[in-house]
Amino acid sequence: MQAALDILKRTFGFSAFRGVQADVVERVLAGQSTLGVMPTGAGKSLCYQLPSLMLEGTCIVVSPLIALMHDQLRSAEANGISAATLTSVDENRAETIQRLLAGDLDLLYVAPERASQPHFRDLLQQCRIALFAIDEAHCVSEWGHDFRPDYRLLAPMMEAFPDVPRLALTATADEHTRADILTQLGIPGEGLIVAGFDRPNIRYHIRPRDSLTRQIQQIIDAEPGPGIVYAPTRAATERLAETLGKSGRETRCYHAGLPPEVRAKNQHDFVASEDMVIVATVAFGMGIDKPDVRFVIHAGLPKSIEAYYQETGRAGRDGDPSVAHLFWGGDDFARARMRVAEVGQDRSTGERARLGALGALVETAGCRRAILLRHFGETPPETCGNCDNCLNPPKAVDATVTAQKYLSAVARTRQMYGAGYVESILTGQSTDRSRQNGHDSLSVFGIVDGEEAALLKPVSRALQVRGALLPTEHGGLMLGPEAKAYLKGEVPLDLVMPPRTARSRKRGVGG
Ligand code: ADP
Ligand code: ZN
Repeated sequence: MQAALDILKRTFGFSAFRGVQADVVERVLAGQSTLGVMPTGAGKSLCYQLPSLMLEGTCIVVSPLIALMHDQLRSAEANGISAATLTSVDENRAETIQRLLAGDLDLLYVAPERASQPHFRDLLQQCRIALFAIDEAHCVSEWGHDFRPDYRLLAPMMEAFPDVPRLALTATADEHTRADILTQLGIPGEGLIVAGFDRPNIRYHIRPRDSLTRQIQQIIDAEPGPGIVYAPTRAATERLAETLGKSGRETRCYHAGLPPEVRAKNQHDFVASEDMVIVATVAFGMGIDKPDVRFVIHAGLPKSIEAYYQETGRAGRDGDPSVAHLFWGGDDFARARMRVAEVGQDRSTGERARLGALGALVETAGCRRAILLRHFGETPPETCGNCDNCLNPPKAVDATVTAQKYLSAVARTRQMYGAGYVESILTGQSTDRSRQNGHDSLSVFGIVDGEEAALLKPVSRALQVRGALLPTEHGGLMLGPEAKAYLKGEVPLDLVMPPRTARSRKRGVGG
C-alpha cells in the first residue's frame, strides 16, 4: 500500500486515505471484487481513480448520468489521469476508441445502456481491462429507489471478462439492497465494505408544515451561509424562490425545465457564493462539490430515507456545524400512498416499506439520527444530542379516542370533505354549509372541544401517515385500509407533539 499512498499524495494531494478508502483500494489492487457503500462526500471516485493509475490496462467506469460523467472527467483530468467519456453527446467518440485500443486510457466513463451492448463488449475484448467500476450501483436493484433495467445487463457483459475485478459503489443502500447488489453483480459477501454513515456535524430538524414560506423564511433569516431549499415541483421552486428572494437574500432557482445556460449559471454562482440560497428540485446537487453548504431545507417529503440522507448530506461537507430541516404534511403521505396503489404488485412492497420508514422518521419522539443510522445497518446510541428531538424532547399524547372521533366524522359526512370541514363539524361550528348538509345534527357534531381541538390537525396527519385516511380526487378525505382498526380501538394512536419553539430562539450562533 506504500505505492498507493505515494500516489495519493503526489497525484491527488491528500495526506491520508479517508475512512474505508484504504480498505476498498487495497482489495481493488489485489484484484478482488468489492462493494463499497460510502456516504456522499466520502470520496468514492478515488477508490477507482487511484487504482486506475496503478493497474495495467483501462478501468471502465459505468455511471448513470452524463452530466455527472463530464464533471468526473474534468476532475480526473485535473489530477493528471488519462481519461475519457464515451456517451451520445461526445463528438470525439472515434478518437476515444482509438485511445482505448492503443492502451492510452486509465479511465473510460460509459453509460450503462452503452456498456451493456454486445459491440461494446467486443470492443473491450480487444483491449486490456483493469477493472469494472460500477457507480451508483443501487440502480441494479429493484429494492433500491432508482432501479435502471440497463444495470441488469452489466453482469452478463462482465462475465466475458472473468479475470477482471468489479468494484460497485453506492451511497445509498439499505441491507436488503446491498445483498441484492452483491448477487446481481456477482460480488462475494466478504467484498462488502460499509463506511460509517454518521454525519455528526449535521443537526436534523423535522416538523409538520403549517405556514411553509414563513417556516422557511425563519431558517434562512437565522442561517447566514449558503443553503439549498428542495421543493417537490418546478413550479414550487419558482414560487418559493420568488417569495424568499423578496427578503433581500440572493435567491436563485434550479430545475430541469430551465434553459441549460441559466441552470449552469445559477449552479456556478451558487458554488462560488458565500450566502446564496438556491431553491431547487432534487436534480440539483449531484456532482456538485461545494463543501460549505450550511443548510438544506426540504419543503416536502423526500422519496425515501436514502434520498433524505443523500440530499441532507450535501450540507456541511467541510465538517462545520450545519442544519437540515424537513417540513412534511399528511398529504405528502396520502399522495405517496395513492401512487403506491397505482404501481404494480412487485414494486409496491418496496414502495410501502420506504414510506413506512419515512413515516417512522418524521413521527418519532426519539432520536432522528438513530433512526437514520439504524436504517443503514448501524447500531447507534439511543440519543445523539444534535437533533431536534434530542435537544428538545417532544411529549407523547394518547390520541386514540380523538382518532376514533375523527374517522367517524369522515365516515358520517360521507368521505367527501377536506380536513377543514371535518374539523369544523367536530368542533361544532354551525355554518350555512353544515346546516344545508344537515351535518349539525350528526352525533359527531361538536364532540371535540377545548384542548382536544388542538389535536385534530396532528391526528389527521398521523392518520394519513398510517394509511387510515386517504385523499379523494377532489381534495377531500376518505377512509383508508387501516381505518377500521383505529375505529374499533384495536390500534392506539400515540401522537408526538413537538414542543413550541419560540420565534426568538435562533440558532446559528455558536453552532
Ligand atoms: P463521493 O463520490 O463519495 O460523493 P467524491 O469522490 O466526489 O465523493 O469526493 C468528495 C470530496 O472528497 C472531493 O472533493 C474529493 O476530492 C475529496 N476527497 C476524496 N478523498 C479524499 C482524501 N483521502 N482526503 C481528503 N479529501 C478527499
Ligand atoms: Zn438525536
